[in-house]
Amino acid sequence: MLITTPHYYNQFRCIAGDCPDTCCAGWQIVIDDATRRKYENYKGPFGNRLHNSIHWKDSSFKQYERRCAFLSEDNLCDIYREAGKDMLCRTCRNYPRHIEEFEGSREISLSLSCVEAARLILGCKEPVHFLTREREGEEEYDDFDFFLYTKLEDARDLMIKILQNRQFSIEVRMGAVLALAHDLQRRINRQELFSVDELLERYQKEGALDKLEKKLGAYCITGEGRFLQMQELFGFFGELEVLKADWPEYLAARRSRLFEQGKEAYAGMRRRFLEQKTRQWDVFLEQLMVYFVFTYFCGAVYDERAYEKMKLAVVSTILIEELVMAGWNENQKLPELEAFIDAGHRYAKEVEHSDLNLNRLERLFREKEACRLESLLGVVLS
Ligand code: SF4
Repeated sequence: MLITTPHYYNQFRCIAGDCPDTCCAGWQIVIDDATRRKYENYKGPFGNRLHNSIHWKDSSFKQYERRCAFLSEDNLCDIYREAGKDMLCRTCRNYPRHIEEFEGSREISLSLSCVEAARLILGCKEPVHFLTREREGEEEYDDFDFFLYTKLEDARDLMIKILQNRQFSIEVRMGAVLALAHDLQRRINRQELFSVDELLERYQKEGALDKLEKKLGAYCITGEGRFLQMQELFGFFGELEVLKADWPEYLAARRSRLFEQGKEAYAGMRRRFLEQKTRQWDVFLEQLMVYFVFTYFCGAVYDERAYEKMKLAVVSTILIEELVMAGWNENQKLPELEAFIDAGHRYAKEVEHSDLNLNRLERLFREKEACRLESLLGVVLS
């Protein structure tokens, strides 16, 4: 079994009681069956507390004022403190690690929803690289399309290479990988996987990105056109379930800051924002794109929807940047990295930790005008 992680993976340290946004509040934490059995059999005074603080019907921890029943006042976990690390359920043991399983390989990343993981992901100045090691043990898969998986892996390697090519603006790099995912999807739909190698060769030929850069220029839209597109993309949040209690208020404030003054005010804000953008902003966007592409793209082996995985990366990156822009407009002195960490981890908490939300987004990506290739290229490049 091959285990792959981003190079910063082992640098992660949970800051527990010092965390400004503990992961033990606001979410329903579901207990896996093996841990549930341990809790059922735990004896003594703490056993009584376990029995009284779990919703046994749906196997989740009870919450008081949206905080886990075991989260102490100093933001530490009482299960860990009283019963030890081995008594944590799988979710609490793994978080903020995100695991994707494939035949013969496991990919482990850190979730952007944890503030300290977000600091590593976004604070990384150099291009991320991935480390692979071998470990004993294989999972059996009945129905795994290994041929599609290798094509997706090859495509993802090239996409990450393009995203990390700092000779080009991040907008051009994002446009290029979106177009590549679009072309790849056509081959998947037509069951022409044999022609994927030729497609990838075309995108990595010398001068291919220069040519593409010129072509992509035609998709630029004005600040006012972007206003309408962004409003539609922001509307997607209204279709999602809310996970954290403070999200609706945060989102409403950001939305009003961006759109309430109308198209011209939006275009002016965007212009001033872009004037202040530093090279470091491009690195934040690159890291977000690489994060989403690495985490989700190869999952298309299970549903054949590679293009939608790329749309998730592009739309998420644009929306996070837009949330940062709204915050910047409110307080133009916000430190850059902190602003991205704040917007990025809030977004990831709402979107990435709900299968319902991820599925709804994929449906919107298929159905909505704002998610057609030309529309998304327009938003990316403007
Ligand atoms: S959000 Fe991250 S840093 Fe904060 S308590 Fe959870 S795992 Fe630790």
